[in-house]
Amino acid sequence: MAETRGPWHAMTPDLVLEALGSDPSAGLTSPEAVARLAAAGPNQLRASVRTPAWRRFAGQFNDFMIWVLAVAVLISAFEGELLDAVAILTILLLNGILGFLQESRAERAMEALREMAAPLATVVRDGRQQQLAAAMLVPGDIVVLAAGDNIPADGRLVEAAALRVDESSLTGESVPAAKHVEPLPDERLVLGDRRDMVYASTSVAVGRGRFVVTETAGTTEVGRIAEMLDAQENEPTPLQRELKSVGKRIALLVLAVAVAVFAVGIWQASRAGVPLSRGLTVALLVAISLAVAAIPEGLPAIVTVALSLGVRRMAEHNAIVRKLHAVETLGSTTFICSDKTGTLTRNEMRVRSILVGTDPVEILPDWAERPADRVPDAADRALVLAIAASCNDAEPLEGGGYLGDPTETALLAAADNLAAPERLRPRRIAEVPFDSERKRMTTVHAVDDRRVAYMKGGADVVLGLCTHARVHGETTAMTEELLLLIHGQDESLASKGYRTLAVAMRELSAEDPLPEDEVLETGMTYVGLLGLVDPPRAEVPEALATCRRAGIEVAMITGDQALTARAIGTEIGLLEEGERVVTGAELERMSDEALAAAVEDVRVYARVDPAHKLRIVDALKSHGEVVAMTGDGVNDAPALKRADIGVAMGLVGTDVSREASDMVLADDDFATIVEAVREGRMVFDNLRKVILFLLSCNVSEVLIVFVTTFFSPTPVLLPLQLLWINLVTDGLPALALGVDPPGRRIMDRAPRSAEEGILVRRRQIQILWQGSLLTAAGLLVFVWGQVLMPGHSPERARTMLFTAMVLVQLLHAFGLRSETRSVWSASSLCNRWLVAALLGSMSLQALVLYVPALRQVFATVPLAATDWLAVLVAALLPIAVIDLVKVRRAR
Ligand code: ATP
Repeated sequence: MAETRGPWHAMTPDLVLEALGSDPSAGLTSPEAVARLAAAGPNQLRASVRTPAWRRFAGQFNDFMIWVLAVAVLISAFEGELLDAVAILTILLLNGILGFLQESRAERAMEALREMAAPLATVVRDGRQQQLAAAMLVPGDIVVLAAGDNIPADGRLVEAAALRVDESSLTGESVPAAKHVEPLPDERLVLGDRRDMVYASTSVAVGRGRFVVTETAGTTEVGRIAEMLDAQENEPTPLQRELKSVGKRIALLVLAVAVAVFAVGIWQASRAGVPLSRGLTVALLVAISLAVAAIPEGLPAIVTVALSLGVRRMAEHNAIVRKLHAVETLGSTTFICSDKTGTLTRNEMRVRSILVGTDPVEILPDWAERPADRVPDAADRALVLAIAASCNDAEPLEGGGYLGDPTETALLAAADNLAAPERLRPRRIAEVPFDSERKRMTTVHAVDDRRVAYMKGGADVVLGLCTHARVHGETTAMTEELLLLIHGQDESLASKGYRTLAVAMRELSAEDPLPEDEVLETGMTYVGLLGLVDPPRAEVPEALATCRRAGIEVAMITGDQALTARAIGTEIGLLEEGERVVTGAELERMSDEALAAAVEDVRVYARVDPAHKLRIVDALKSHGEVVAMTGDGVNDAPALKRADIGVAMGLVGTDVSREASDMVLADDDFATIVEAVREGRMVFDNLRKVILFLLSCNVSEVLIVFVTTFFSPTPVLLPLQLLWINLVTDGLPALALGVDPPGRRIMDRAPRSAEEGILVRRRQIQILWQGSLLTAAGLLVFVWGQVLMPGHSPERARTMLFTAMVLVQLLHAFGLRSETRSVWSASSLCNRWLVAALLGSMSLQALVLYVPALRQVFATVPLAATDWLAVLVAALLPIAVIDLVKVRRAR
């Protein structure tokens, strides 16, 4: 690499390329790029800082109550209760490990996702165009730009065709800047005026270009102000926020109860004649253990874990979630607005018809026929193909196939098959690029010593610009009659569901300067019409039926014309006979109020501009709909941002649309959205189950300790036992409920209201009464053991109570699986993890009861068969009552 250095904008492209040792058409060689990467480092602004594992582990113990408990335990250790102290600390440690493992799982899920979302760049290396991770870019690389691309590094343009770049992130200028390659001699130009340069973190609004990378990573303009990029962190989701605030309130309540338990405990101890210091420590330990066990400090973390595991499962189904809140919102989606092309259809576009003059020719799918060779008007037909292939940005790939927009690759394929390729694609000297609003594209070519403009686009758009037409090889003035005839042809193709494109041309003077774009695209001569098929995806009708059952409305929004949209809409079963199709032009005439009144009934929108999508989202949201909206183009970004769930396309989408989205479809498939909604519902359902489970168990623990302190001179549950109950129930069963398989009917019910959190009043009441009933199990054995069976030792009664509390909570988890179906139904066993959790936890409990060493630590005695029977009956009773109430209510 030569040592001469910028200002790059003042140098000619050739000089820049020379200085950077690069070649505009071949790029760098791979070995050279590897060497440069080693020298310059990866093109990444900041390696994401990972919290080291030990820190995350330590974080598990960063809780005030745990510290208080640890201190209390140490005090008790000094008083001689060494074994007890060690056991309590061990349980705390186990609890910490459990939390750490859960969090690590979530972390891994999120990390895998970040890797999947790593930005790519189209680069020329070793003479080949290829997609590389943007992090691999080095100075000297040649990067190819198209509309909607993010610019991955700073660089000097070496080619620019109608290129405009949105630099608002750097300069604040909202109007995209027009770019060119001519050097700018003024060396002190500010960034926004360097029109021959492009900068990382900006994006291509329209046009094409190539640039040679001059700076990467930290030395780019944005790298120098890198703090900007830290704002990417995920905001807390509504559920995380809800649970954080609920968690705080519960903590206060539990603390209040713990204080009461402490006070009553001291009173009881003094009544029983226990020395004050001993009474104090015991009461303190019980109160604090209760607080540690029952304060759900992990609630927000549980949500994060569940959401990020949902994220991972969604990724397995090709839905890449970019923002965590999407997992939640997806579950309450009520309206999906979907693009047609590529999402509802396969995006396997093929030319099926070519029409010139007055006679149509259907091209067979295998293209065996070469109509261009046989039929009259062969010259015009060849011209249609030449225009379709030249006014076209797709490229043939070396090993066969094509690279580019599916509409354009289809045209190129047809031209390659049906005409003599050497006649195609004369040198392009200027262009007005395609965008979804203009619905047309124009290129200017040098053919021999002439200049011609070629245009292709929507038939209505192109015909509006034609003053002449080719008929039987002659150019004639466009007449009303001819116009009607061509429109008729267009409609007949469109009503078969074809995407139609008209092509036109214009001879230009070879000497005069090229006219301005607006003038260039006038006075065109119509040449012919192409019909392209793109069959619907096979899975779409099924996915639509699922939406219908799930109370989710679907609307198709397409840039294609009304007849095409109607045909496809009917074919996939979205549109019924007689239902209306609203066009962009009609939308334009509707006031916001009129649109809001109509929007809930419209299933198909045709010939819309991206700006219309924004209005549709707003209109739907005004009815309280939760809207998922798909988009792929640069101009779709505002609608994607405005929608509750912006869905971008992974295959054909632009970087800009992906960045504006909440979720990316790796396969561009509509059915994937529906699958993601299903996953979203499942995540929410499971979170609900876990949270109801944890909180109702906590209520039962608090209540049993609170109530029994009044009746028993010594604590009926020892601190260690309390912590154990909490560990056993918070651990395996909660995890198992978190991965509960969805009920078969998960997509057969209406969406949950978006505002509805998990802990609505109804559920708070549910937690309280169900928690109280669980307590009843404990109280029953307490009464049985201590009152009705006076022969029982206090240890035996306590062991029964201890075991009953574990068992009743485990069984309760089964009841929470369904809000409607009985716990006694066969499907209760279909969550194998939960069955394993029950068996596993009960085995642990058995260890505590039957292994002598543990028995000593936990102060338990082995239970006799009759004790077990009492425990079982006591545990089953509340479960049966809860189930009865649930099933009756569900009827
Ligand atoms: P959908 O909205 O169904 O997903 P789309 O977003 O791909 O379709 P656009 O790409 O905006 O729709 O196309 C809108 C119209 O513009 C098409 O109906 C066609 O008439 C025209 N068109 C599409 N692609 C091109 C192109 N490459 N060159 C010229 N005109 C085009």
